[in-house]
Amino acid sequence: MSTNDVAAFARALPKVELHVHLVGSASVPTVLALAARHGAATVPSDPAELAEYYRFRDFAHFVDIYQTVNALVTGPADVTDLVVGLARDAAAGGVRYAEVTVTPMSHVHVGMDPAAVADALLEGRERAAAEFGIELGWIFDTAGELGVENAWDTLDWVLKHRPEGTVGYGLAGPEIGIGRALFTRPFTVAREAGLHSLPHAGETTGPATVWSALTDLGAERIGHGIHSVTDPRLLDHLAEHRIPLEVCPTSNVRTGAVPSMAAHPLPRLLQWGVPVTLNTDDPGMFDCDIAGEYLVAHEAFGLTPAELAQIARTGVDAAFCSAELKRTLHAEIDALALPEI
Ligand SMILES: [Zn+2]
Repeated sequence: MSTNDVAAFARALPKVELHVHLVGSASVPTVLALAARHGAATVPSDPAELAEYYRFRDFAHFVDIYQTVNALVTGPADVTDLVVGLARDAAAGGVRYAEVTVTPMSHVHVGMDPAAVADALLEGRERAAAEFGIELGWIFDTAGELGVENAWDTLDWVLKHRPEGTVGYGLAGPEIGIGRALFTRPFTVAREAGLHSLPHAGETTGPATVWSALTDLGAERIGHGIHSVTDPRLLDHLAEHRIPLEVCPTSNVRTGAVPSMAAHPLPRLLQWGVPVTLNTDDPGMFDCDIAGEYLVAHEAFGLTPAELAQIARTGVDAAFCSAELKRTLHAEIDALALPEI
């Protein structure tokens, strides 16, 4: 079995993606389109130069790029472009259904009409289905560093507009100094309104943050959650209650959440029986894609094609898409021939 065989298998495997941020997904063609619309000189207009500028160097450079791209997202058409670009790239990697994390207030705060943001997402979602055959769901998140007020504003926006495909309410941003419990009330109201609770926790801080996400926010999946690995009781809890982790290996190395891929806790999480899904987080900016994350799991951790298929099944089970789509994806995964060993 060559690496090429596994790479082709990883791409062909029908997959869901449950942890991908809209702005962080922007790849070079999308950024070129945004820059062209605005006549912006903030990024190189030559594709090769832009690709070089865009290539991941270190975390500080990532933050620069993120802010540069975010500054290009000033109108509803830009939001639609981001959605379509995400769908194109995800579909090329074999994604059939993605739950996309959108931060609506960051678009409202630059002056976009709140209703127009929702319409722009819907237009992107329709084009994603029509042009790339990929279904999208939405997770609307708040940035923890902006405090509880912003969490309420975000929830107000979601409950007022609730674009088709809305599945959940999220919490991102720094974890250090921003306890999950601060957001208990907005998460309670969100859950009462039928939104799934999908916060980040245990990416840069330890198991206590994950416990708080579970007990204070009623988390149904954990964004990252990798540092659960140091708490056997937490691992037992996640395994027993089938609470999936949205694991993003390349992102974790890029951001320094883990010191190296060799040190990544993914194998230990799997051994413990915790439901693990594979995701990209910010694929445009971390220079990764979903098929590549599956290949990393093979190359760095020795997972077999059968084990990769099992992770794809875990992703389908952890998704909030229709039962019908889940059945279809399971059948397609089961039907896919494993590469010969
Ligand atoms: Zn994230």
